[in-house]
Amino acid sequence: MTLSQSPIEHRSASAGTTRLSIDLDAFAANWRKMRDLSGSARCGAAVKADAYGIGAEVAAPRLAREGCRDFFMADANEGAQLRPLLPDARIYVLNGVFEGSFAQTLAHDLVPIINSPAQADFWCSNADNRPYALHIDTGMNRMGLTPEQAVTHSQSGAPSPCLVISHFACADEPGHPMNARQVKLFEGLKPCFAGIEASLANSGGIFLGSSCHHDLTRPGIALYGGEPGAHRPNRMQTVVTAETQVLLIRNAKAGESVSYGAAHVLTRDSRIAVCGVGYADGFHRSASGAGVPLRSAVPQGTCGAINGVQIPVIGKITMDLTMFDVTDLPEAAINAGDWVELLGPTITLEQAACAAGTISYELLTSLGRRHTRSYLG
Ligand SMILES: *Cc1c(COP(=O)(O)O)cnc(C)c1O
Repeated sequence: MTLSQSPIEHRSASAGTTRLSIDLDAFAANWRKMRDLSGSARCGAAVKADAYGIGAEVAAPRLAREGCRDFFMADANEGAQLRPLLPDARIYVLNGVFEGSFAQTLAHDLVPIINSPAQADFWCSNADNRPYALHIDTGMNRMGLTPEQAVTHSQSGAPSPCLVISHFACADEPGHPMNARQVKLFEGLKPCFAGIEASLANSGGIFLGSSCHHDLTRPGIALYGGEPGAHRPNRMQTVVTAETQVLLIRNAKAGESVSYGAAHVLTRDSRIAVCGVGYADGFHRSASGAGVPLRSAVPQGTCGAINGVQIPVIGKITMDLTMFDVTDLPEAAINAGDWVELLGPTITLEQAACAAGTISYELLTSLGRRHTRSYLG
C-alpha cells in the first residue's frame, strides 16, 4: 500500500495534520511599512497574546533586530516571558498593575500602563519613582483615566508618567466622527503632560495620517498581515499560512447528508475531501458549511484552497475534522496526503474571518497549539 492509499500511514508519517507557516520576512516588512507610515514618530509593536498567535518569542526579537524598541504586552506574565529575549527594550503592560503583578513588574523592569486612579495611587506610592505610562480614555470606556481624572492626576504632585496613551474606538473606519473627536480630546490634554511622549495610533490609526502619530505608534494586526481598514483590499503582506492535510477522499450520493446534525444534504453525487483540522485548531465551527444559525451575515461557510482553487467547506466543522466539497475539481487535482490552504495567499484573513462571523484578530489568536509550526526567514 502506498501512502496516498493509506491515510493511517501518512498521518503517522507527518508530525500532524495541520501546519502553520509563518513568514518572518513578511512580518518584518510589514513593521517597516508601519514605521515608514508613522513618519517622525517611533514605531512600536503590539506583541500581546503571543504576538497575535504567531509566537512572541520569535516575533519580538525579530522586530528588535529591525530597530523596534517599544513592545506592548497584555499582562506582566507576558512581559516577563519576553524580558530575557529583549534585554534593552521598553516592555509596556497594557493591563496595568495590581498587587498580584507588582513584584513581577518590578523584577522584569516592565512599564505598567496605569489605567485608573487606584492603579496610579498604588504605583506612585509603592514603586519608588519607577517609570510608568498613563492611559487616558477618550472614547472606548474600557481602560484609562477619564480626561478629568487625568487632569487631576497631572496636578497631584505624583511623579510624571514617561508616556501618555489613548486608544481609538473606530480606527478601522477612516470617516468615522469618533476619530477626530478622540484626537481633539487627546490633544487637548497634552498641555497637562508637557514634554511627555504621547501615543494614540494602533494599526488603523497609523493609516489615518500624521495628526494621529504623535511620538510613538502601536501597530498590531497590520504586522501580522491583517488589513487595518474595514471593507478594503489588504495592504499588508501575508504572514500566516495555515494548511490541513487531506486524510481521505470519499464519494457520496445525492440525497445523503454530511456531518453532524445531517445539516448538509447533497444535491448531487459528490466527492468529499476529509481533512484533519477542526474547531480545536481554531477553525471555527461558526465557519461551517451548514447548520450554524449564529452566522447570519454570510450564509455560506468558509473555503479552503488547493493550488489556488477555492473549495467550500461542506456540513458542520467538527473538533478535529472538516469536509470540503471537491466535486468540481478534476479527480487528479486532490488526493489523500495533499495539503489544503485554510489561510494564506488565496484565502485572506479577512475572507476567512468574515465567513466565520468574526474578525482577523480572533482568528489569529485562536489558532491553537496543535499546528506544526515553521518559521521562514
Ligand atoms: C492591541 C492594542 C493595540 C494594537 O492594535 P491593532 O488594532 O492590532 O493595531 C494598540 N493599542 C492598544 C491599547 C491595544 O490594546
